[in-house]
Amino acid sequence: MNLTIERDRLLSEIEALALISEAEPPVVTRVVFTPSDLKARAWMKARCAEAGLTVREDAVGNTFARWTGSDLSVPVVGMGSHIDAIPNAGKYDGVVGVLGGLEAIRALQRGGFQPRHSIELLVFTAEEPTRFGIGCLGSRMLANTLSSDAGQKLTDKDGATLDEVRREAGFRGNLEQVKLPSGYYKAFVEMHIEQGPLLERQQISLGIVTRIAAPASLAVLIEGSGGHAGAVLMHDRIDALCAAAELILAIENAARNSGAIDTVATVGICDVFPGAINSIPLRVRLSVDVRDTDLARRDSAMRSIEAAARSIAEKRRVLIQSTLLNADAPADCAPAIIDTISQSCRKHELNFLPMVSRAYHDSLFMARIAPVAMLFIPCRNGYSHRPDEYASPEDIERGTLVLAETLAALSR
Ligand SMILES: [Zn+2]
Repeated sequence: MNLTIERDRLLSEIEALALISEAEPPVVTRVVFTPSDLKARAWMKARCAEAGLTVREDAVGNTFARWTGSDLSVPVVGMGSHIDAIPNAGKYDGVVGVLGGLEAIRALQRGGFQPRHSIELLVFTAEEPTRFGIGCLGSRMLANTLSSDAGQKLTDKDGATLDEVRREAGFRGNLEQVKLPSGYYKAFVEMHIEQGPLLERQQISLGIVTRIAAPASLAVLIEGSGGHAGAVLMHDRIDALCAAAELILAIENAARNSGAIDTVATVGICDVFPGAINSIPLRVRLSVDVRDTDLARRDSAMRSIEAAARSIAEKRRVLIQSTLLNADAPADCAPAIIDTISQSCRKHELNFLPMVSRAYHDSLFMARIAPVAMLFIPCRNGYSHRPDEYASPEDIERGTLVLAETLAALSR
């Protein structure tokens, strides 16, 4: 089979999708179930229909575009990613896996390939945690890692529940039916930009993910006592932000002292109340994100953060309350799919790098119900989640070619 990627068409589709945004180009902002997200979904479904795919959507808006195979009794070969984007994002995160996936199907169609297993392009709902505070909403529900009961109660910052928001967006089915039976997918493959600098640094055009790191996150509330910045003397203060400062450094140390470079911890949000120059901070909210490729080590870092919080609370007489938002296990990619991707790279004489995905993706949750693998393509300077995110046309083309070849091998 002669496989060719229509690179210009794929690139122009990436550009077209980027223009469906709540922000001025080149900034992409597409938060789940906002008008731009709904418009992007409609645009995407139209492209899938043009390719002759059968499109269905589940109750939370996960979209499945199927190229029906010749044998309906065998499980489906899945692939895909997401098209939602955090505020002030770029064009490629998630999108490369979705539009590259569509182009991979078209390349196989042009090559005259007939799949035995149906091939399904999946566009996940809300990979980004922007609106409901939890990442990979769609895939968590497909894998039943997030139950329909827990899912429908999630709320956005305006207090609207997921159930209300998704119904208003036109997804009115029963959330109970979102979860997929295990065995539904024979394999699931996600192509994604690396979001880190390793491939570019080593000048390798493809990464094959062997393991996806385990993420966990906490919301921390620190309550002290406020007061006038001039009138309250230092020894009378219970300053919530000073306690937060100690805790933030303890969190950094928990990761630094874990004994492995794979442990990372980040405080990305620090909200100070009341937030006035002449007012002692009364209350601080922190977000804590901890990840590791090793679950036991990640959990041990979490325990040292909790211990530090207890001792800081005691020493500084503040109240520290932490709520666990998620603590997911890492996932191993399936050796058989890794092998299939490697063979396709060799066939096209492409160098590849086996690597760990330190960011998590929908594949982390798909791994609970299907054998998964991920294909990374380089992105300039490792930049992602910013408007100057960039992947080269050549790398996108190579990744799409390998994806198409892999899908063909898996669906024969
Ligand atoms: Zn992504």
